[in-house]
Amino acid sequence: MLATENLREADRLMTICNACRYCEGLCAVFPAMEMRRTFGAGDLNYLANLCHQCGACYTDCQYSPPHEFNVNIPAAMAKLRNASYSVYVWPKFLSGLFARNGVFVTLATALSVAGFIVGFVAWSDPAALFAANAGDFYKVMPHNAMALLFGIVALYCVLAFVVSLAAFWRDIGGARSAPGIAGFGRAVSDALHLTYLHGGGGECTSEGKQPSSARRIFHHFTFYGFLFAFAATCVATVYHYVFGWHAPYAPLSLPVMLGVIGGIGLVIGPLGLLTLQGKRDPILTDTAHRGMNVAFVLMLLLTGLTGLLLLALRDTPAMGMLLAVHLGFVLGLFLSLPYGKFVHGLYRFLALAKYAGERRSGQFID
Ligand code: SF4
Ligand code: SF4
Repeated sequence: MLATENLREADRLMTICNACRYCEGLCAVFPAMEMRRTFGAGDLNYLANLCHQCGACYTDCQYSPPHEFNVNIPAAMAKLRNASYSVYVWPKFLSGLFARNGVFVTLATALSVAGFIVGFVAWSDPAALFAANAGDFYKVMPHNAMALLFGIVALYCVLAFVVSLAAFWRDIGGARSAPGIAGFGRAVSDALHLTYLHGGGGECTSEGKQPSSARRIFHHFTFYGFLFAFAATCVATVYHYVFGWHAPYAPLSLPVMLGVIGGIGLVIGPLGLLTLQGKRDPILTDTAHRGMNVAFVLMLLLTGLTGLLLLALRDTPAMGMLLAVHLGFVLGLFLSLPYGKFVHGLYRFLALAKYAGERRSGQFID
């Protein structure tokens, strides 16, 4: 007997779909389902994390409501997927943060912003906070203190990700179908292209009856914006520690240009995704976790916006306060990464890697 209502509903639907198989060309969920006759909790969590919630199987299904079978795969998979994050999370006592994510993110960010303002005043020259410092952030917070703080938080995030992803990989039987190098490459390509958000070629229908590529495009802006912003930080770190080239960097330097591209992506992408979320038919989604979805995208938007504003006004007396606000958003975002929507990308990647392994071996899992 499966332990939760979400698992039992997903099991019921997968059993119907496995007899029907009409949607097998739409995405990876259905071929992976067809490799199984029965579904344990690990199988269902794997399938739920393979689903991109494009809505195509709901639109195409002859058994969707008002049919008595009440087949609604996107909603069932969304509920199970969101619940699965709490199952594998580390440490376990923080699992409730997914359900109360909006409150957690707001508190973490507000305290972070306040902490930076108090810290700037307490540990550096208070006058520097409201002075024009020629773009030199380290006049208000020493570089080593900044690197130490964010380094500790980043290491904690990596630890939390590794432990929870290892638990997921074990539970879905990842080792039984190791993807190998070719399968791993395939999973990377599927993740980078969002292959299964194409709705089997017909594009996403989760935001309206008309198929649209908007969600995929805005997701790309967000994802690649995040990567560019991360790359800007990495390049600046190498400049500082390897070459001894200290900030502020010129507008046309590599860290600044990467940061600007990342910031623009983090404004356009999240704005588009938030707009689309407002249009999404609630029947296709997990409304109980709406706060988690909105909080993460909003944090990315505010991080991008404050980053661009800080760059534009870094030579003015507003720099000190803007730096406190931007660093507060970045710290709030980092603190919430293991306990919010960010983890969907990591679980989905492992699910894609397992799927690539199963395809490679052509195995039938009983
Ligand atoms: S979603 Fe509906 S049409 Fe598609 S496989 Fe399942 S039962 Fe068949
Ligand atoms: S990815 Fe789309 S087609 Fe596939 S199961 Fe999810 S909602 Fe259905």
